[in-house]
Amino acid sequence: MITENIQRVRGRIDVVCSKIKRDPGKITLVCVVKGRSLAEVQEAIGSGIKDIGENRMQEALLKYNDMSQATRGTLKWHMIGHLQSNKAKDAVRIFDLIHSVDSVNLAQEINKQAAKINKTQEVLLEVKTSPESTKSGFSPEAIPDARAKMLGLGNIKVRGLMTIAPLGESAQPYFARLRKLRDDLNPEWLLSMGMSDDFEVAIEEGTDIIRVGRAIFEG
Ligand SMILES: *Cc1c(COP(=O)(O)O)cnc(C)c1O
Repeated sequence: MITENIQRVRGRIDVVCSKIKRDPGKITLVCVVKGRSLAEVQEAIGSGIKDIGENRMQEALLKYNDMSQATRGTLKWHMIGHLQSNKAKDAVRIFDLIHSVDSVNLAQEINKQAAKINKTQEVLLEVKTSPESTKSGFSPEAIPDARAKMLGLGNIKVRGLMTIAPLGESAQPYFARLRKLRDDLNPEWLLSMGMSDDFEVAIEEGTDIIRVGRAIFEG
């Protein structure tokens, strides 16, 4: 079932991309594995998934440690959930890209831990594009200042912006807002936006990375 679901998701990506003349090969499909078993994750990997997204440090470590080094090495690991500063040490050890940097303090801690292992940690800044109080992230207005502060952190590289659209309404205005922020600040930055229910809209709005869980594991 997982294999068919992945094919279906890739098919949906191809359809939007051909409609708007984007190269589907340039869209990174992050397979979100929160709450899934190792067997399910292995099946996804067997079906060609190369990017794994987790949103809890603890769960990520369990899966990471359960995999052979050979398997792990073929994958890119993405942290997509809120990261506590005291977990930054583990995070820099296993993640290739941390999508959820939501404070300058967290960035400083990531920088400190990355320096200890001689790594330049790639990160995205999470942006609260909607006023929902439950979400973490920088307000759009706070991004230029946060970015300036992070320029001084030698072991962090900001690669772009991430957002989560609010539930139960059209995601389009929120994705458009993130794109505009990116275009204004740094056209080279990547965008991470779009989940199972709204990844097609995100692709239309120019995202580089989509994060898909349910459409892969539940169909
Ligand atoms: C769970 C989650 C996703 C995937 O959501 P689905 O609706 O299962 O596709 C994407 N991004 C984040 C930050 C998530 O927590």
